[in-house]
Amino acid sequence: MPVYADLINFAQAAKGLDSRNKLKLILFAAGVKPNAHVVLRIDAKNLDEKHHFEKHLLDASILFQVSRAKGYEEISAVRKNKVVWTQAGIWFGYDLFRDLGSLAKFRQYVKLIGKQKHEKADAIGAGLYGYPACCTREYTKGHDVAYIQEHHSYHDYYAKLFEADRKFPFVFHYVCSQHCAATSRLNALYKRVVKRFARKFFNRYTEKKSYNATLIVDAESDVLDSKGKTIWPVRSAHDYSLITQKPLDAHYYLLNHFTHWSLQRGTVLDAKVTIQYDYADVALGDVVDVLPEPVHQRKFLMMGRGY
Ligand SMILES: [Zn+2]
Repeated sequence: MPVYADLINFAQAAKGLDSRNKLKLILFAAGVKPNAHVVLRIDAKNLDEKHHFEKHLLDASILFQVSRAKGYEEISAVRKNKVVWTQAGIWFGYDLFRDLGSLAKFRQYVKLIGKQKHEKADAIGAGLYGYPACCTREYTKGHDVAYIQEHHSYHDYYAKLFEADRKFPFVFHYVCSQHCAATSRLNALYKRVVKRFARKFFNRYTEKKSYNATLIVDAESDVLDSKGKTIWPVRSAHDYSLITQKPLDAHYYLLNHFTHWSLQRGTVLDAKVTIQYDYADVALGDVVDVLPEPVHQRKFLMMGRGY
């Protein structure tokens, strides 16, 4: 596949692509990611971007398929323990294909997912998106909650996710282990390609930015069994979601925080937040308040069907 420089420039500049989607589009346009699913968000500030994106795809003769419009919400205010979500715009999912064979495989993949034939679907998905076989095997086993319960403690499960995010910020798949050699090679290749073909994005994505913030402790990540009960009643670590009490960079954030400390929901703490790639490292400081558990006020808009 050739390198589509215009499409890479679009990816770097587009307001409607977040950093993960910019990265996917750059890797696809540079010819190293065979196929890609890219989400484009449209709001009042980038109304022309859908047309602009499709023009680039058509100019490059890239096969693609686009979803119907779906709504998305963002946090618009945090008042004491009330977290207010409001409709912020619409998004479109783009499936981009290298060739007709990939499009045919993708149709088969979607059909298999619909029939819940995970093992076959995952194997085809791995080929379509360039995921390592070892990671795909582990991902497939993880559809069975009993397998996760038997092979991982809470600590090990979330510690692995935490470390994989930090070690492999250029890949998108579920990583079989933080020591996976195939993922390490893929991450190094993607990093090299992005640095070479999309230097502006590379500099922004790898830059470290620090903020002082006040954060509210919200729910803890968990895996539930079919009865809705946690598979880890005993745990030696916690993976919390933390809400910024005020906007950072004009946006409110939900940040993941892996820790050995136990924190009560609603606790408000001072913190130093360091953002690099698409994750945040949080160093918690003093407790400044204790609120009731956060309550999320959102209007659910059900539109279409996503995959
Ligand atoms: Zn692996």
